[in-house]
Amino acid sequence: MASGLVTWSPSVTLVPTHGCFNACGYCSFRVPLEQAVPLSLRAATEQLRARPAAAEVLLLSGEVAPNAPARKEWFARLLQSSALALAKGRLPHTNAGPLSLREMAALGRLNPSMGLMLEGVGPAYDALHRHAPSKTLAIRLAQLEQAGRLGIPFTTGLLLGVGETMAERLQALELLAQLQRRWGHLQEVILQPWRPDGEAARPLTPAEQADLLELIATARQLLPPEVHLQTPPNLWPLEQLPAALEAGINDLGGIDTVDVINPAYPQPAPEALRQLLASRGWRLVPRTCVHRHWWSWLPADLRRRVEQRARLLASEPAPANAPHL
Ligand code: SF4
Repeated sequence: MASGLVTWSPSVTLVPTHGCFNACGYCSFRVPLEQAVPLSLRAATEQLRARPAAAEVLLLSGEVAPNAPARKEWFARLLQSSALALAKGRLPHTNAGPLSLREMAALGRLNPSMGLMLEGVGPAYDALHRHAPSKTLAIRLAQLEQAGRLGIPFTTGLLLGVGETMAERLQALELLAQLQRRWGHLQEVILQPWRPDGEAARPLTPAEQADLLELIATARQLLPPEVHLQTPPNLWPLEQLPAALEAGINDLGGIDTVDVINPAYPQPAPEALRQLLASRGWRLVPRTCVHRHWWSWLPADLRRRVEQRARLLASEPAPANAPHL
């Protein structure tokens, strides 16, 4: 029987806006900018109040083009939402696309960690992103580099199963490994199976699972050991999740009651997860949005808040949010 620790982050997702100037080929999250209704701070406060146990506030936003007149207001909303999360004793983690140096630095003072998916390398991604100007490989890599230079603990990841080759996957992992060796800021790499849009969930087939397990094992070999490997548990058939852990996954990411990117895939209840994993020798433990290894990187005020929330998590009856199952 396997044994080990696997972490998760009790999380609530706020979407400052679904409006996005990109149009990625797989996206069911975005609405055109002119139709977007931004999330008011009052509505955000309500959502936080409804989820008192969610230590992490994932700010997941559509994007406004860098030089567009609406950019200033959009960015101000990200700052306000981050400040609101902190004021309510939570820890914001913003993932809002590429940011200028000044923007990223300003958010970094309020966010203990931030994120941006690399997604992948090669023509399959180029085709999906041909109407998504902020998704070029060069821009994404520059963002990861910028976060490293700023010393911001960072989450990135790959979107898998869009038609990429094994060689392209290896190339993407090698790029991440190089970034980590240079800056040391990559706290997590998400290995996210792409699921087709649609009303009904399409669970991973046995062949898709085998393919992902091989990739997880390869990623574990290529990436430095401090980088956590993460997969979203709702995208795996629950019974098969232990196989992903045995292959190298050691983190299940932020778990909210709903996955706003893949709403057709219900989140497992943390208690059900805990029991399943315990029966296979794994201990599921809650964590904050920033892994302990990177706490010493944080400005003093953020570090104090992280330590405070971590103490609360450790004292709460596990696991605290109880959505489905
Ligand atoms: S950048 Fe994100 S929100 Fe915008 S279209 Fe692409 S996947 Fe959707």
